[in-house]
Amino acid sequence: YTQAKALVYSKYGEPSDVLSYGDPGTEPHPQAMRREVLHTHSISPSLPSGSLLLRTLATPINPADINQIQGVYPSKPPMTQLLGTQSPAAVGGNEGCFEIASVGSGVKDLAKGDWIIMKSTGFGTWRTHTLATEQDVLKIDNKEGLTPIQVGTVSVNPCTAYRMLRDFETLKEGDWFIQNGANSGVGRAAIQLGKMWGYRSINVIRDRPDAEATEKMKQELYALGATQVVTESELMDRSFGDRVKEWTSSGPHRVKLGLNCVGGKPTSALIKCLSHSGHLVTYGGMSKQPVNLPTGLLIFKDLKFSGFWVSRWSDAHPVEKKKCVEEILEYTRLGLFKDVPVETVQWDWDTQESVLKEAVQGTLSGFRAGKGVLVY
Ligand code: NDP
Repeated sequence: YTQAKALVYSKYGEPSDVLSYGDPGTEPHPQAMRREVLHTHSISPSLPSGSLLLRTLATPINPADINQIQGVYPSKPPMTQLLGTQSPAAVGGNEGCFEIASVGSGVKDLAKGDWIIMKSTGFGTWRTHTLATEQDVLKIDNKEGLTPIQVGTVSVNPCTAYRMLRDFETLKEGDWFIQNGANSGVGRAAIQLGKMWGYRSINVIRDRPDAEATEKMKQELYALGATQVVTESELMDRSFGDRVKEWTSSGPHRVKLGLNCVGGKPTSALIKCLSHSGHLVTYGGMSKQPVNLPTGLLIFKDLKFSGFWVSRWSDAHPVEKKKCVEEILEYTRLGLFKDVPVETVQWDWDTQESVLKEAVQGTLSGFRAGKGVLVY
């Protein structure tokens, strides 16, 4: 007998306060997933015809997952009693790599052993097993040479970087983009994709507590293909505009695109580096400070400002999403696209709830050595 475990929340708040394995109710809901997964050996005949039983392999802890648990994220998965918990609960997590453990009799295009990711965010991925339908999932056609972590982290960060570099401005080889949060999962993906496509990048990181750590981070990003890496304090320095001119004035290539996941004053400084009719795409707000649109630049430099949300894009473009995922995974297989640094947390049957809660809570603390990933 195997039972599933899930990391759930029944009210919004800090992950360390509200996350738990859930209190099992005394009378499980008739459709409780716990029941469905009790008998892993004989589950196949009893699976509803279009259903899949999934075994989780790897699920990352992304910043948005925390905001969702805090109740400050626009998409809020409904709290239900389907898990058999005493109070209605939602499962944390939005992304991950799963292996199909068995399929219902009506499932034709998926088979035991296939790897899948979720088509949309909001499924609740932090759980050891789950039931899903064929419509919920996107099959990884070729898992050869890939790890569960690579597959489990492809659909949010790299897809976001890919779309922002391609869908807002037409960059040509030699053109520049500038971004903050450059050492984030999205930032690292943008550096690498940009390099592959011939774009040059100015990458802003936060100053580390000591110069050695700052230099080490810069070198890490240069190794990924960054053209320039600077700290926020370099960006904010008056001379920075001249440095950008020096880098970019040798040819016709302009700073056409800015990618912003920070906000606040450093973003105002970043906006000043955009060329005439440049475009700032905002996709995150790590500093929790607003983006100030500079009136003069808006009018006289014809700057454009947009936002991007990968959840919205994925739901609107399911076919392109699959293509995007497959393309990035192909780059990964070829060694052209490097993994983000991760801090893995093993989730076994005996793993204490507190270990997982701590891993989740640490995500927004900054200056981290890697993205937290739960591996099962
Ligand atoms: P990671 O977990 O990989 O990295 C977090 C990044 O945030 C690091 O660069 C870190 O810098 C930086 N950071 C942390 N705290 C602060 C702070 N107070 N001020 C400024 N920077 C800070 O992040 P992801 O790549 O997963 O996500 C990055 C951002 O992008 C998040 O805001 C996330 O919500 C957003 N995002 C948005 C998507 C969308 O569709 N709109 C999709 C994917 C991500 P440091 O090392 O200096 O701490």
